[in-house]
This record gives sequence, structure tokens and C-alpha cells, in this order.
Amino acid sequence: MTIDSSGFIDLHTHSTASDGSLSPRELVRHAKEQGLVALALTDHDTIDGLAQAVAAGAEFDLEVIPGVEISARHPQGSMHILGFFLDYQSDLLAKRLDVLKQARKDRNPQIIAKLNKHGIPVTMEQVEGLSGGGQVGRPHIAQAIYQLGGVKTFQEAFDLYLGSNGLAYVSKFRFPPHEAIGMIRDAQGLAVLAHPFTVGLHTAETLGPVLEDLMGLGLAGVECYYPEHSSEQQALYLSLARKLGLLITGGSDFHGDIKPDIHLGRVNCQQHLTYDLVTAMKTWREREVGGGGG
Ligand code: AMP
Ligand code: ZN
Ligand code: FE
Ligand code: FE
Repeated sequence: MTIDSSGFIDLHTHSTASDGSLSPRELVRHAKEQGLVALALTDHDTIDGLAQAVAAGAEFDLEVIPGVEISARHPQGSMHILGFFLDYQSDLLAKRLDVLKQARKDRNPQIIAKLNKHGIPVTMEQVEGLSGGGQVGRPHIAQAIYQLGGVKTFQEAFDLYLGSNGLAYVSKFRFPPHEAIGMIRDAQGLAVLAHPFTVGLHTAETLGPVLEDLMGLGLAGVECYYPEHSSEQQALYLSLARKLGLLITGGSDFHGDIKPDIHLGRVNCQQHLTYDLVTAMKTWREREVGGGGG
């Protein structure tokens, strides 16, 4: 299909396979209704939603890019690696991601036990009921705490209990960056650093070397356009990407009702993401992995 290079896209979204509120099919239908021409589904640590999303892409005539968002280990801050154009039927990738699924299964009861100790009577059943059948993540637990009246807002649940300084925080296993990037590349994908501000390095002098190290491990791009980036941050990431020869991507991190202020295809009220980002990724991928063969 030929796509208008100024058509709107979104390269960072979540479904019920992780902590989004729409099923992969509903998400693709919503994207079509919003007028998008392409969408990447990038669920946390899982590719379980991709087959349904790709099928829905054919049903609703919208380009679906099979993706993932993998949490990686980093001494400082939080490092998320996005993968795009994955072989979503890769058994090897699914198996490697199963390690993270198990880590969540081990962590969730520990978080709930801590909450119970602090007088919040959340149960695993309640949280699973909110997850829509996919993996349980902290946003589901935040919703459960809010429903019980334990906090006044969803955000307060993170600030008081679930965030890294919260009373019920439990860390979970993460792959080192070389493994996260390696499993994306082994599945013919492009690896991109998500929302760089969460790494906690805010200057060219500190973030630049980290990007160069990641490039040595196979990183292809940086998510420069993101709703929580200030204009200064966006300018910094764009200039580093251009200087280092990294691809530029962008996405809304759409989660549906869980984050109601986030809209598909937009990084703020005015700024839309356009298809030329996808064209650049495809050109890069053809050069790097020979168009997906082998
Ligand atoms: P999990 O994958 O279970 O560790 O949950 C990660 C998700 O929780 C992220 O994608 C965010 O949507 C959300 N999250 C993590 N930390 C915070 C925070 N401090 N405030 C609000 N949301 C957060
Ligand atoms: Zn999420
Ligand atoms: Fe993320
Ligand atoms: Fe995300």
C-alpha cells in the first residue's frame, strides 16, 4: 500500500496484553477511527497481542507495526527499549520474554502483601479483574487502590505506594541492555531507546555516551517525540540523534482509560507524528537486516 508521508502515526501504544485498556483489535479500530495510517503496538515485555493486532490491521486497513517495550537494567533511572518490525511469530522471542512474565507473576503478590500490611485490602483477584486477561502491571494495582478509596487519584497510588520510592515498591528482574537489544535484533527488529528522560541523564555530555554505548550494542534510534518531553528535552534528543546518526521515532504511550489524557498519534495537543518516521525506519531496516529475510 502507498501511504501519504504526512499521514498520522503512533509508534508507542499499549493494549490489554499489558497495561492498556483496549484489546489489540479495539486499539487498531480506534486508531483507524482517529484517522491514523500506521500504528505500532508496543506492550510491556510481551508480544502476546501482536497476532491479533496484525489481523485487525488487515481487517481495518491500517498498517500495524509489530513491536514491544522491554524494561532493561540501568544503574540509574529507568531504561525502556522499544522494538519495531518484529517477527511476532518468533518462538524464541516469546520464550525469552517469558522470563519477564514470570518475574511479574512473582512480584505482584509481593506488592499486594505490602499493600495489605499498610492497610490497603487489595486482592490478586481484584487486580486480575482489572487487567483484561493480559499481564498484570502496576497501573492495574494503582486502579485497584483507587477503587478501594485508598488514594484520591491514580497518580497518588504511585507517589505513595507503587513508585520506586513508594511504601509497597518491589523491584523486578530486568535484562541488561545488551540482552534486551539482542533479543529484538534476533527477531529482525529495530531497537529504539524509549522516552530517554527516564534514564535520568539530562545533558548531551551525560546522555551522549550512554547512547553511543547502546549503539555499540545495536541500538538504531531514539524516541524523541513523547508527551512528557519538554521542548528543551525534545531538542536535546533530536540533536543527539542527528549527531550520532540515530533514527528518530515518536509515540504517545497510549494506554486507553488508564491514562485518559493521552491521545493516539499526538505527543501534545498540537503536535502530530507523521509517516515519514516510518519510512526512515523501513529504509534503515532494509539496509541492516535485508528487508526482514533470514
Ligand atoms: P510495571 O510494568 O508493572 O513496572 O509498570 C510500569 C508502568 O507503570 C509504566 O509504564 C507507567 O505507565 C507506570 N508508572 C511507573 N512509574 C510511575 C509513576 N511514578 N507514576 C505514574 N505511573 C508510573
Ligand atoms: Zn504501561
Ligand atoms: Fe515506558
Ligand atoms: Fe510505554
